[in-house]
Amino acid sequence: MTRSEELFARARSLIPGGVDSPVRAFGAVGGTPWFAERGEGAFVIDADGVRRVDLVQSWGALLFGHAREEIVRAATDAAARGTSFGAPTEAEVELAARIVEALPGVDMVRLVSSGTEATMSAIRLARGATGRERIVKFEGCYHGHADALLARAGSGVATFGIPGSPGVTEGAARDTITLPYNDVEAVRTTFDRDGDAIAAVIVEPVAANMGVVPPEPGFLDALRERCTAAGAVLVFDEVITGFRIGYGGAQSRFGVTPDLTTLGKVMGGGFPCAAFGGRRDLMQHLAPDGPVYQAGTLSGNPVAVAAGIAALDLAERLDPYPALERTAETLMEGLRGAFAANGIAARIGCAGSLFSVSFTEEPVRDFAGARAADHERYARFFHHLLAGGVALPPSGYELWSLCTEHGDDEVARVLDAAGSFAG
Ligand code: PMP
Repeated sequence: MTRSEELFARARSLIPGGVDSPVRAFGAVGGTPWFAERGEGAFVIDADGVRRVDLVQSWGALLFGHAREEIVRAATDAAARGTSFGAPTEAEVELAARIVEALPGVDMVRLVSSGTEATMSAIRLARGATGRERIVKFEGCYHGHADALLARAGSGVATFGIPGSPGVTEGAARDTITLPYNDVEAVRTTFDRDGDAIAAVIVEPVAANMGVVPPEPGFLDALRERCTAAGAVLVFDEVITGFRIGYGGAQSRFGVTPDLTTLGKVMGGGFPCAAFGGRRDLMQHLAPDGPVYQAGTLSGNPVAVAAGIAALDLAERLDPYPALERTAETLMEGLRGAFAANGIAARIGCAGSLFSVSFTEEPVRDFAGARAADHERYARFFHHLLAGGVALPPSGYELWSLCTEHGDDEVARVLDAAGSFAG
């Protein structure tokens, strides 16, 4: 028995499924999850001492790899001064200023502790500000696990084939309209029918929880146009894309400005720190300025905020994005070559440095396409790479996350392992 197997057996008797977040359990790919012992830049070392190139990078939270010195130092220095106060701190103002400066759609921002909190709060704010109840989301997009947002979701909900979730009331599900991603016609029809009842449209501006599915030209613009015309709030969920696709997020890259933006992952430097922000007039509906309630004991936690500032500081100073895109290009080109040489039908969905592999003949433009891919082949591919020293996300619905520490050697190792995958 390996140490990971021992730990997993014990975990399963104490924690449902043995994990604190479902996809970690390897349900989609089978086998025993590796337990992380430590990380070093591009590498993760498991409980049995096996060192692998890590393409999970805490599900996209780490842009600078594991245990980046500047981030660790900022967090430990902050912790030494006190780990939580429940009073405002100067560092929160600094982090807020950086976010406002980076994102065109954000005039004011509030810090929270998880992406789920950010999206849940943004939806409440949109409903409170508009006095409307219905929201529109897209099939295969994942926005965390708040009731209103679980319908036909991506990520673990897709991985485990769960259409919604027991425990979500019928009322909550009824207020959520789900439409196919990239389907402008469906958006038009819905707004023509229900426009004045829609509080918000929430979307991943690059879908990254059904594999990476970029927005087709005109899709985000159509959402912007329809929301403006109907007085609905457009929410870009940039929990993955924010500070990863570029410093200005997907909203800068595609030139479409949302009313509200949700953030998480990279902006927390690997700590529980997330945010939602947007137009000043909307944000002023929040308590204590306005009546829409939202709060958190650990919101703006000083350790997490210090790590977040350090991460954003690195991102601004080093501008890692062109190099990340070059790394992604090299990897994608090499993978395409390897699959072609071995007669394996595969498509790589990408936007900037964000990408993922789907084993299918057809390009993927929506959730139906993502589901039609050969997920059993992905499971075999996953285990082939794991044995070859590469840790991929344990589901074909997830993004492959790059960090600045993935260099030529790491790329070569991934391509070497992929090259011997026979199908
Ligand atoms: N939105 C998106 C786009 C996400 O990818 C995720 C998580 N992967 C969330 C929201 C939820 O964030 P968290 O897991 O921090 O609650």
